[in-house]
Amino acid sequence: MAMNTASHSRLDLSAFAGTPIAVLGLGKSGLSAARALHQSGADVRAWDDDPVRREVAQEGGMALVDPGNADMTDVPTLLLSPGIPHTFPAPHPAVKRALEAGCEIICDIELLARADRDALYVGITGTNGKSTTTALIGHILNQLGKRTVIGGNIGEPALTLAPMGAGGIYVLELSSYQLELLTSAAFDVAIWLNISPDHLDRHGGMDGYIAAKRRIFARQPATGIAIVGVDDEASQAVYDDLIAQGKTAIAISVERRIEGGVYVADGWLTDERGGAARRIMDLSQVETLPGSHNAQNAAVAYAAVSVIIAGKSAAFDAQLADAIATFPGLAHRQELVATLGGCAFINDSKATNADATARALACSDNIIWIAGGRAKAGGIETLAPFFPRIRHAFLIGEAANDFATTLEGQVPTTISGDLATAVAEAAKLATSDSTPCVVLLSPACASFDQFPDFEARGDAFRAAVLTLSEDAA
Ligand code: ADP
Repeated sequence: MAMNTASHSRLDLSAFAGTPIAVLGLGKSGLSAARALHQSGADVRAWDDDPVRREVAQEGGMALVDPGNADMTDVPTLLLSPGIPHTFPAPHPAVKRALEAGCEIICDIELLARADRDALYVGITGTNGKSTTTALIGHILNQLGKRTVIGGNIGEPALTLAPMGAGGIYVLELSSYQLELLTSAAFDVAIWLNISPDHLDRHGGMDGYIAAKRRIFARQPATGIAIVGVDDEASQAVYDDLIAQGKTAIAISVERRIEGGVYVADGWLTDERGGAARRIMDLSQVETLPGSHNAQNAAVAYAAVSVIIAGKSAAFDAQLADAIATFPGLAHRQELVATLGGCAFINDSKATNADATARALACSDNIIWIAGGRAKAGGIETLAPFFPRIRHAFLIGEAANDFATTLEGQVPTTISGDLATAVAEAAKLATSDSTPCVVLLSPACASFDQFPDFEARGDAFRAAVLTLSEDAA
């Protein structure tokens, strides 16, 4: 298997040389972290419940030790993959054991922070928009000539990133799980996009979820800056709290003017910091960033870059606007796959909760909607205001029947069962007349009942649509 792993990494992990470290979870990031540590001379004790993954680590020369059954007293550190529960719904047995033994539990981002203390760190969290905003900030900084790398939940695993050192910038997408596994990492620019219910089972409810995400502001240096999207109540409260604590925070809104802040009005990104309002750019013209949710991502990215580079001239504003306008967009987020007979086929597989789907539904009318999968708490009740925009819903996966019940009497539905059937049925309806429409895969569900992940689901959608377009050619 070709892997871009530790041999390319020159991050300095020598502090771990000769020290035992347990690594639990040998997926892409866990395995590359284990390898990087092993190559730095650490006494790695690797484990994964999957024997195939264990074998890969063993072939790489690492010892296999199940931390759920081992004596952890001489192991100061457990490196945990963020996918493994360490609090709710119940701590993994290895985590329990490690905690009892007084072992620190961290994730690979913490190791990155320890290995490169001189770089600037930008952290991004929120329920939705993290990947887009991370990629956008990385793109803008690269366009402006800054040495930058993006990572965390996006791109390459943390310990395979190139060392940035002084003057370089890490732009890191951070899930609530990763934030809970940081002990010394600190963000010069800490970004909170928004919050809505998601992953509540892993955090013991909404309060736990908010508390986990708030850790992005922990340990910020005195010069640190918080950037907070304030368009939902809980996020506004987070911003108010930061201000009350005397922190430097910038509020961002796409719904209202923020006096002295950054906001989007009539599509225009506007910056009122420092007095007069400066109109930076018309975001509604950027095709790769459709909808007000992407305006939020762009406004936040703009604010972040403007504090990192601190340019004040009109020429700098223009450069920044150009960089935003050339953002190539990300796959699986309202990605236009093809247009067939006047109908756009859009892959929004990354919409794994109702709030994300709401953003996509808000962007179009006459929608032929493909939804379903493994449902999240609350289902799709909150999407009711968008039901009039939906011409027909084709439902898949475990959630299909529940979604059909919610849509009953408001939207015509078909239980398609699986994605291939849904695409075929949706395409048939779309091309049955000449009315322009949008076939939108925006599932409002996790993918795990039928696919390994949202990428596989989006890829399957894209492949099915492209087959249709070849047939039509
Ligand atoms: P994340 O990494 O937080 O999951 P992504 O950028 O991958 O976020 O986008 C995930 C989904 O959320 C996409 O379906 C997208 O359309 C939607 N989305 C993107 N940005 C936002 C936002 N700021 N607010 C709400 N939904 C968003």
